[in-house]
Amino acid sequence: MKNKYSVLKEAFDGFAAGAVTPEALKPVAAQPGIYQQRNGAFMARVRVNGGEIPCARLAGLADILDATGGHAHLTSRQDIQLHDIPAERVVDAVVASDHLGLPFKGGGGNTYRNILVSSESGLAEDAAFDVYPYAHALNRAMQGCEKAFALPRKLKIGFFASGRDRLRAAVQDLGFIAQRRDGQEGFTVFAAGGLGRESSVGLELIAFLPASQAVRAAVALTELFYDHGDRANRHQARLRFLLKRLGAEAFQRLYLEYFARTEAPLVHVPADDHLSPLVQELKRGRTVQPAEGFALWEQIAVSATRFGDAVKSVRLFVPYGNLNAGQLRKIAALASEYGSPAVRLLVTQDILLPIVHRSALPGLYKRLREDLAEIDLTFTSYKGHIVTCVGATVCKIGIADSPAVADTIAAELDRHLPPDTPEKLKLLKSVADDLRISGCPNACAGHPAAKLGIEGMRRREGEELKTVCSLFAGAGLGEHGEPRLSARLPDGPVPLERLAQKVLELELGA
Ligand code: SF4
Repeated sequence: MKNKYSVLKEAFDGFAAGAVTPEALKPVAAQPGIYQQRNGAFMARVRVNGGEIPCARLAGLADILDATGGHAHLTSRQDIQLHDIPAERVVDAVVASDHLGLPFKGGGGNTYRNILVSSESGLAEDAAFDVYPYAHALNRAMQGCEKAFALPRKLKIGFFASGRDRLRAAVQDLGFIAQRRDGQEGFTVFAAGGLGRESSVGLELIAFLPASQAVRAAVALTELFYDHGDRANRHQARLRFLLKRLGAEAFQRLYLEYFARTEAPLVHVPADDHLSPLVQELKRGRTVQPAEGFALWEQIAVSATRFGDAVKSVRLFVPYGNLNAGQLRKIAALASEYGSPAVRLLVTQDILLPIVHRSALPGLYKRLREDLAEIDLTFTSYKGHIVTCVGATVCKIGIADSPAVADTIAAELDRHLPPDTPEKLKLLKSVADDLRISGCPNACAGHPAAKLGIEGMRRREGEELKTVCSLFAGAGLGEHGEPRLSARLPDGPVPLERLAQKVLELELGA
């Protein structure tokens, strides 16, 4: 372990001694996913492949936070970031996380990043098949692929279990959408999409790839990017710029040449799915009078699974995606107790307990209210439940304080729609799932692919620099399934005080 992180340790020791500047530290720290925050402390990004994390590891991360200070932040790419770590504790956190089976390799820098997986995989009735085993197989293969850690720029990969997620797949550098053809598992493969500077949807590279070839498809694209990506101009380096330079036809031809000569192991997925046996063991609940608010919570937070009416998934709405060590530990314990040995981190910065017995729901609701009363896991207010990036108070290159923008909207929505309003249910889901706010054009919250996206900016008004926002709307799928990004609305930037009304108009069509 010592050798594995010795370069990192040397750099942080030098930083602590004043011999290494923040600028000199950055290239060493960024590759494993460690960044200095605006307040001088550090953020260490723990990769959680597909956002699926065993409860024991979640509790282990809580122990790390106890030792280092700071809090956990769930990201929209299903990582867990440890925030506010003092410089002298960063390497301890990294080594301890590695001991938990969560190594620091490729959390940042020009590497393949955490693989995204649609969280309903293996759970939803309409999911073609469970894509998690493929995402895990690919992650194992890529961890051993040196070129995947020396790319011209980052490479984002996602697996999606249903055609509903075509747009999300199309904005990855490499997106796999599960489908069955004549009983065979396979993927439609998209490539070279992305969000940020010149956001664009990618190209459908392969209409049907046998699922066993997923690793080969990813290694081929990695090799192509390694060889042909722009290493001179960082701002033109993402794969989507290569697609733009070559054109769709030449890009696809080049890719197929790489694919033809790539040798990679076939992915063999065991026929048994790992959830079915767990379903039999789920904790049953006694018949109890549900606590106040249960019915609304059940409608908002509980969803159906393919295991029939007795087995549900439960979403915990985590305000701002932030949890302290104690809260992490309690969630891990509750999930285990109710029969989920692992939880799933959602792109909405929430947590999913994948399987809970329906009879246990009233008891679980009560426990959430009692054990985690200090956080709004049950969505009683919009505050903290609008997905944003970390914003400019944390992020050194940010422009607007995106969580503050979200708070302004949330306060207005809370006033506008008290809990018993019939429209509230519709708006709750829509605000939590379809609204994204980024603090600058880098689009870390993914606002251009959201049904309603907001990009924060600053505008000088007299002596004052004020936050204003651009709105984006219209993302979705066209008549023939063509993915489409949201377009910037033409009315120009909207001042903060008018933003909530705009959101209501656009979300509710009011
Ligand atoms: S979108 Fe901008 S402000 Fe937000 S985290 Fe990304 S770079 Fe920072």
